[in-house]
Amino acid sequence: MTATENVHPHEIDKFGSLAERWWDPQGEFKTLHDINPLRIKFIQEYADIQDKKIVDVGCGGGILTEGLAKQGAKATGIDLSEELIDIADLHGLESGVQANYQKISAETFAEQHPEQFDHVTCMEMLEHVPDPASIVNACAKIVKPGGFVFFSTLNRKPKAYLLAIVAAEHLLKMLPKGTHDYKTFIKPSELSRWCRHAGLEIRGMTGIEYNPFSKQFSLGKDIDVNYIIAYQRPEI
Ligand code: SAH
Repeated sequence: MTATENVHPHEIDKFGSLAERWWDPQGEFKTLHDINPLRIKFIQEYADIQDKKIVDVGCGGGILTEGLAKQGAKATGIDLSEELIDIADLHGLESGVQANYQKISAETFAEQHPEQFDHVTCMEMLEHVPDPASIVNACAKIVKPGGFVFFSTLNRKPKAYLLAIVAAEHLLKMLPKGTHDYKTFIKPSELSRWCRHAGLEIRGMTGIEYNPFSKQFSLGKDIDVNYIIAYQRPEI
């Protein structure tokens, strides 16, 4: 990692230190396991992923990357945590789900692979980097004209503070304490402005809602806490 890279080293250490817990469906990353089928469903509403080249930016231990590969995508996952890339590789060996993993920044990957991927995903990652707009630019550069870029993140609304931090980290203990920092949360309007500047057009948005009684996540209209947006790079 170089000092000039768009990364908070403490974020990489935070996630990397829990690497071996990544694939425990009841562990610290249970939420990512629980929302994974929903985000794959949302992606498939917009994009045909069968045999398509997809890069998953900030892939962690590969929960989404493997999920996309299972649905027939030729998936690549990139992350700056060495520990997580190792866990993703190991899990792929165990599960037999083929995906490529690489420890590389989004910006460097974009330099090396401009317009080389059919679609790009970047989920629950933008709120952990110093310059999220730079990640957005990199994703827009990697995708082929006509391809989709999917982002999910947390909304900077008081309700997200209450639910994603106070409730999820402290009361319900669904996430490790310190996972999120409210001031890094991103409004859909901010994300969309960065995407517009990067040449991406918005195609659709959905909220990821949590019902504390049934303990179930679902896709819905409430984008005040966690949301996913589909953007498309227009055909030339
Ligand atoms: N996208 C995955 C993991 C989300 S957790 C999923 O939704 O299942 C956030 C991930 O972002 C962690 O794996 C962390 O290592 C990664 N990350 C944080 N800053 C990063 C950066 N600057 N470049 C690449 N990955 C980063």
